[in-house]
Amino acid sequence: MPELPEVETSVRGLERVLLGRRLVKVEPRRADLRRAIPVDLRQRLTGARVTGLGRRAKYGLVATDRDDTLVFHLGMSGRWRINPRDIGAHDHLILETDDGTILSLKDPRRFGSLDLMPTADIGVWPPFQALGPEPLGDALSGGWFKRAFAGRSAAVKLLLLDQRIVAGLGNIYACEALYRARINPTRAAGNLSLPRLKRLASAIPEVLEEAIAAGGSSLRDFAQPDGELGYFSKQFAVYGREGDACACGGKVRRIVQGGRSTFYCPRCQR
Ligand SMILES: [Zn+2]
Repeated sequence: MPELPEVETSVRGLERVLLGRRLVKVEPRRADLRRAIPVDLRQRLTGARVTGLGRRAKYGLVATDRDDTLVFHLGMSGRWRINPRDIGAHDHLILETDDGTILSLKDPRRFGSLDLMPTADIGVWPPFQALGPEPLGDALSGGWFKRAFAGRSAAVKLLLLDQRIVAGLGNIYACEALYRARINPTRAAGNLSLPRLKRLASAIPEVLEEAIAAGGSSLRDFAQPDGELGYFSKQFAVYGREGDACACGGKVRRIVQGGRSTFYCPRCQR
C-alpha cells in the first residue's frame, strides 16, 4: 500500500513530466474507482496546462491554468506509469501531454480515487477540512502534540494514525518515528513530556524524508519507457522485523493496536 513517501515520490516524478505541459488527451476508461470519477473530467482537463503539482496527506494534486485541480489517491495499489508499452484493463486514466508523453494511472484493486474541483475550493473539500498538520511542514511541533494530546489517555501510536492530529502519516512511519524518538507506542499520549514530544515531532519528518530520499531511485526508473512510480523497497528499523535484534541488544516485538500491527523495541522505547 502506498504510504506518504510513495505519494510524495509520485508527485515529484509527475512534476518532471507534467509541469508546464498542456494535456492534449485525457481519457478516463471507467466511470468509477472507489467513488465516481467526475463526468466532466475529460472536458475540463483536455487542453488545460499544468501549472503546479503538490500533495496533501496521501492525496496528489495537479493544478491547471483553468483554475481546476485534479486530486488523486493511490488507494491500495495505484501507480502512475510513463509511456506504458501496453494499456490494460487496470489502466483507468490515460493522459497525453503536448510533447507526446503518455501517462497512465494503473490501479488493479480500485481503492484509489480521482476528483476534480476548483482550485479555490481545495481547502474546504470535506476530506481535507479536518486534516491536521502535514508531517513534513513547519506546523508539526512538540507544542502541537502537547495541545493535541492533552487529556487523552489513548496510546500515542493510535493517535499518530488520527488524521486530525497528523495528516497522512500511516502505520509504518508511526512505528518508525516512535522508535526513532525512543517512545513506547503503548504510552498514554496525554502523559508524554514536552521534551519527548519534541523528539517525536523531529523524528516524524526524519523517517519520512529518509524514505523519500530512498525513493529517488524510482524517479530515475520512471524516466525510462514503461517506468513506474509509487513503490520502492526500503529498510525499516522496526517495522516488519519481529524477533530481530535491535542495536540496543533488545528484540523487536510485535503487538496489535487498533487492529493493526505495531513493531517496537521494549528495551529502548520507554
Ligand atoms: Zn532497542
